[in-house]
Amino acid sequence: MARQTASDVTAEAVVVGAGPAGLTAAIALALGGIETVLVAKRPDRPDNRTSALLAGSVAALDVLGVWEACRAHAAPLRTIRLVDDTRRLLRAPEVSFSAGEIGLNAFGHNIENRHLVAALEARAAALANLRRIDAPAKGVRLGEAAAIVELQDDSSLAAQLVIGADGRNSLCRVAAGVATDGFAYPQAALTLNFAHARPHGDASTEFHTESGPFTVVPLPGNRSSLVCVVAPGEAERLAALPADALSQTVERRAHSILGKVAVEPGRGVFPLAVETAQRFAANRVALVGEAAHVVPPIGAQGLNLGLRDAATIGELAVKARRQRTDLGADAVVARYDRLRRPDVASRTAAVDMLNRSLLADFLPAQALRGLGLYLLDQVGPLRRAIMREGVAPSASEPRLMRGETL
Ligand SMILES: Cc1cc2nc3c(=O)[nH]c(=O)nc-3n(C[C@H](O)[C@H](O)[C@H](O)COP(=O)(O)OP(=O)(O)OC[C@H]3O[C@@H](n4cnc5c(N)ncnc54)[C@H](O)[C@@H]3O)c2cc1C
Repeated sequence: MARQTASDVTAEAVVVGAGPAGLTAAIALALGGIETVLVAKRPDRPDNRTSALLAGSVAALDVLGVWEACRAHAAPLRTIRLVDDTRRLLRAPEVSFSAGEIGLNAFGHNIENRHLVAALEARAAALANLRRIDAPAKGVRLGEAAAIVELQDDSSLAAQLVIGADGRNSLCRVAAGVATDGFAYPQAALTLNFAHARPHGDASTEFHTESGPFTVVPLPGNRSSLVCVVAPGEAERLAALPADALSQTVERRAHSILGKVAVEPGRGVFPLAVETAQRFAANRVALVGEAAHVVPPIGAQGLNLGLRDAATIGELAVKARRQRTDLGADAVVARYDRLRRPDVASRTAAVDMLNRSLLADFLPAQALRGLGLYLLDQVGPLRRAIMREGVAPSASEPRLMRGETL
């Protein structure tokens, strides 16, 4: 993949945004034979987060030739434990999910975003029909036969299909005339990675507290990542603590299940919000990843949805190309919107319900949550159905997630 500047280039598809969702979409398109240009702006700050990638996402990255470079950096998730850590009157029983119960070796793998993005960038660089331009897009003009992506140096790129993968403040979404619905929660997530004395046993533990989940997820060796959801002021306070004090706080809140904790440099604070585009595609522009939907970091859904977006638009565009039809035709973008909406809506609703049930001081809501978790603990078929649905949506799973080529 040659890095170059653009001067009024024509491509079959242009992907705007080189985060994990955009890179995956660009690789899928290019592997399907589509002449693709990736317009990449460097992120504003380093990303110290990790992503728990569910089995379908790992299968897709494997088919795209990316997973091999991720493997050594990823830890399997074989057990997921939910622990009620509230001090409320009605507390839920502890529930433990094991991948073996549904015939899987692991629910998925947890990997630092920097390693995932490096593996995607290396794969993208090796594809001859994928060109990368390191410059921000400054606008998108919509035309009858093509959409035009304008770059900061005043050059432009014309394409049948533009994939907007430019994150939550998506310029592509605005240009396509798509509004969003959403709201903010009174919470923020503190993220960091840490070393610990005891092995994690490939288990992720989610402590449910009154302010939100405190989730530790395994990384290779005796290391884990933390997503700690608390009130925004508390997240800032924790993020500003000296390393020793923060290590002790993390160990205490994790009930010392991993022994002594040593936090690593690099902390992030992310306000929690839901934002969903009213349409996932319109006017030759298809939105993927956080350009289309933002969900709270609970239950590891965000990027898994983003990768399913990338796999779906890849599948539709490659099919259109094989049929020698317009990649950005109304029928293609309308189908993309139809295929993605149920998956995004159901996951967003489930995450919202779980989060609200934790925040609710209302006793019947707590009782209902306790009952739900009790049933999950006691009723094997229900637990297995929930696990299967959690790993992969039962409806319209894209080919790449099933381990099939496009
Ligand atoms: C605390 C936290 C923990 C999370 N944990 C998980 C998890 O375990 N599992 C999971 O599945 N998801 C998780 N997520 C969600 C996941 O991190 C996001 O879904 C994912 O990072 C979004 O990727 P993206 O490629 O859509 O967007 P981004 O990563 O935001 O990428 C957008 C890219 O577009 C570029 N860009 C922006 N504007 C322009 C422009 N004008 N021109 C060119 N480029 C542009 C940006 O520089 C950036 O590189 C978590 C989220 C949070 C906040």
